[in-house]
Parts: sequence; structure tokens; C-alpha cells
Amino acid sequence: RIAVLGSTNMDLVAYVKTAPRRGETVTGHDFRTIPGGKGANQAVAAARAGADVALIGAVGTDEFGVRLRAALDGSGVDTDLVRTTEGPSGTAHIVVDADGGNAIVVIPGANASVTHLGPGDEALIAGAESLLLQLELPMDTVVEGAKAARRHGVRTVLTPSPVQPLPPELLAATDLLVANEHEAAALTGIDDPKAASRALLELVPEVVVTLGARGSLYAARGQDPVAVPAPEVTAVDTTGAGDTFVGALAVALGEGRAMPQALAWASDAAALSVQRPGAVAAMPYRKEIDAAAAE
Ligand code: ADP
Repeated sequence: RIAVLGSTNMDLVAYVKTAPRRGETVTGHDFRTIPGGKGANQAVAAARAGADVALIGAVGTDEFGVRLRAALDGSGVDTDLVRTTEGPSGTAHIVVDADGGNAIVVIPGANASVTHLGPGDEALIAGAESLLLQLELPMDTVVEGAKAARRHGVRTVLTPSPVQPLPPELLAATDLLVANEHEAAALTGIDDPKAASRALLELVPEVVVTLGARGSLYAARGQDPVAVPAPEVTAVDTTGAGDTFVGALAVALGEGRAMPQALAWASDAAALSVQRPGAVAAMPYRKEIDAAAAE
């Protein structure tokens, strides 16, 4: 089983030709509400990749909360420990322009109410193979979750997004850090991903730096960073590629695969996701990942 301690957001996406400037009103041509949030996305990715997954988090008492929970349930994610807290759900207000550029406002809403682990949360974490963490819940809660996992010998996988300084206590309780190249550079002040991965190894024992179409780098203490290639595919939408990668990686590791094999399988999963539009909508199911991996 995989536990995820993380956010759920409703993405409210407005599609326009040119984003409005301050004081300006523009007419767009499309609008969608899409369940998201990094916690929910990683949970769905892992569930589709074949694991038994439970999410710890919160939705609000608004209609988005009902839809977010239903979307998670429908993807097979256990939501028994997702609380419903008075007030709005987390929302991401996204304006996408004709060039595919975006501007985003995130309002944490119910996610901000997860200020502590609740009853049952620690037991769930204790019984899991891995705990997946991101930074869209209050930092203190992320730290508390990582420490609980550490107490029970559960592997912690941290995605440092949105990127921000990481408290030493969190780093001390992190087994595997999975950062994209921008996050790796922001955390270390080093632009070269290989050098950044080496610097991150001084903070945590294992590091993956994802490099988009260029694949990823795996670094562990005492060995040189290893390049993991990405399958060559035609990308139509890379939203959620990182979350798909992390979800699939956790599933493979939980099944006892060695890191190189687990990384290759996660790369196959992420490559499938970029060939389809959407984040959660594009996440592949186990059968598809296995088929791609067998090619
Ligand atoms: P994020 O989505 O967090 O920004 P990346 O863009 O680095 O992360 O993508 C995560 C992983 O998804 C990559 O390491 C790679 O395995 C896969 N991926 C992303 N973009 C592509 C692509 N264009 N072709 C193939 N694989 C991709």
C-alpha cells in the first residue's frame, strides 16, 4: 500500500488568446474544471499503476469538494482519511494563452486546514510501503508526516513543489527526493543538473532529477549519477508528467523492484502520460505501462 499526504485542488482553467493585464477584461474561448492538486495527482498515478493507495488531505464543504472526492474514489484512491473541512476546497485559477503559456493563482482552501496528522493517519502511514509528500500542504504537517513515516521505517518520497527552502527536519526524514531540473536548481543554486544532484545528495540519501524529454538522473551516495533515458515520443501535454513518474516509481519500488528497473518503468509511464492531454486524464493504467515497458 502507498500513502500520500498531500493536496487536492480544483483547477479552474480559462483559455484565452492573450492573458488580461491589470484592469483589463478579455473574452476567452473555453473553460474547464479539472480535479488536480499534486497530492491527488500522485495518488491517482499510483492507483492507476496498480497499487492500493490512500490519500491523507482535505476537501472543502463546497461543490468542488464533492467532485474532488468523487474523482478520487472513481480512480480507486481510498479517501477515508480525506477530511471535509468547513469552507472552500483548494482551487487553482489558471489562465492559458494561445502560446500555451500560463499564469496561475493557487488558493489552498481546505488544504490549509490540514495542520496536523489526524487520528488514523499515523496508523495508515505505518502500514504503508512508501509515503509520498509534496509541498502543497502546510510545511509543519509535511514534516510531521515524514517523521511519522521515518519512525515506522516507511520510505519517504518528497517532491519539492512548489519549490521553497526545505527545513532540516524534513530533509532528515526524506529517503528519496524527486525534483525537476528547475526545482533542483532552485534548491541548490546550481544550474547543471548533475552537479545539483550531487549537491542534493549531501541533504538526502537518494535523488532523482527529472529532465523532461531528456529523461532523468539518478544519484545515490557513493556512486556516480546515472542517466535514465526517456522513451522518444511526441508530447502533446506534459502537465502531470512528474506526478505520473513519482506515482509509478513508488509502485515499482513498493513491489520490490531495484531502482534502475523501477526508474525505467516510471519513465515508460511518464512518457505515456505526455502523449495525451490533461494531467490526471492522461495518466496510464498498469496494463499500458507494462505493454510499453515490454516494447
Ligand atoms: P515536471 O512535470 O515535474 O516538470 P519533467 O518535465 O522533468 O517534470 O518530467 C518528468 C518525467 O516525465 C521526465 O523525467 C520524463 O521521464 C517524462 N517526460 C516528460 N516530458 C517528456 C517527453 N517530452 N517525452 C518523454 N518523456 C517525458
